[in-house]
Amino acid sequence: MIKLHDKYFKPFISAQQIDNAISRLTQEIATDVGDEIPVFVGILNGSFMFASDFVKKYPKPCEITFIKLASYEGLKSSDDIHRLIGLTQDLTDRTVVILEDIIDSGKTLYEVYRIFKNEKVKELKIATLFFKPEAYKKDYKLHYVGIEIPDKFIVGYGLDYDGLGRDIPEVYQIKMTQHMTNLVLFGPPGAGKGTQANFLKDKYNLVHISTGDVFRHNIKNETALGMLAKSYMDKGELVPDQVTIDMLNAEVEKNADANGFIFDGFPRTDAQAEALEKLMKDKDSEINAMIALEVDDEVLVQRLMERGKTSGRADDADESIIRNRIKEYYKKTAILKDYYSARNKYFGVDGEGSIEEITERLSEVINAL
Ligand code: AMP
Repeated sequence: MIKLHDKYFKPFISAQQIDNAISRLTQEIATDVGDEIPVFVGILNGSFMFASDFVKKYPKPCEITFIKLASYEGLKSSDDIHRLIGLTQDLTDRTVVILEDIIDSGKTLYEVYRIFKNEKVKELKIATLFFKPEAYKKDYKLHYVGIEIPDKFIVGYGLDYDGLGRDIPEVYQIKMTQHMTNLVLFGPPGAGKGTQANFLKDKYNLVHISTGDVFRHNIKNETALGMLAKSYMDKGELVPDQVTIDMLNAEVEKNADANGFIFDGFPRTDAQAEALEKLMKDKDSEINAMIALEVDDEVLVQRLMERGKTSGRADDADESIIRNRIKEYYKKTAILKDYYSARNKYFGVDGEGSIEEITERLSEVINAL
């Protein structure tokens, strides 16, 4: 990751990928142009690196020149008027290939066509190293495209963020969310995840998402999701993965500005862990740690029976359902310890003792992250 001014950027397109794209472009263009000597016209500033590497690879003789996109303050309002300047030589009857570093909305292309309108060139072709199809608003044909990219801000290889980044030999993409802390609070039913998450969310300013709580909320409000979940929850079984994953994604999206999340009761299966990894990646983030509360099974049963006296939860009221939930945990969920251990993200914490003692143990792990 790199920082330019106030923003963070992550690696996006390697120097090798750029090199491959340029090799392909030179081959395609050389084949089409044949034995003619084309005039390549680079659009400054962004295309200086592309144009340089391009002509070095171009297998036949060629000419290269540059024009520059200049912006002037508009007379009215704050609109800028962009004009291309620097086209001085006679291009009559020449095959001209524009070399653009990136085409997004197509505004620059509009200018290119405007200034070439009165030039009597034989042919005008457009080659761009990067192209953002989602942002493109014009109808001009793009004859040669190096790499299509999503509509996200990029820097490097000639492209800048407020002056910086042009010199970087690879391309970086802006990071959308900065520095989140995301924790998975893990452990069998009754381990105290919910209780501890309540303290930790305030202490570290994180959003607490308990999938069990969200299901219970849906059941209370008699939503379709609630009705579906209830049939599984009442037996102490897991709700199907896709239902749970879709719900979790929606809960995360509701909190787009969060500093980070405490996931409690999720993930519970491998498929959920993978879905969570993807979701975090889409947010340019990651799970920093799985912190597991380790508690003896018989202590769990006692705690849940005790909670059942006041919680009103059907799945806390019956010892056989409680034991089934613990069984489900060992059968389907405990394996996630391996998933996070393999990524050096598993931290076991003794979950027996006073609430304050356990919060203290969890905090030590979080502070050391
Ligand atoms: P909890 O409040 O975490 O003990 O969850 C209560 C019940 O909700 C579980 O026994 C499951 O039936 C359901 N549930 C909660 N989270 C999940 C999940 N991540 N995957 C599947 N089912 C879940």
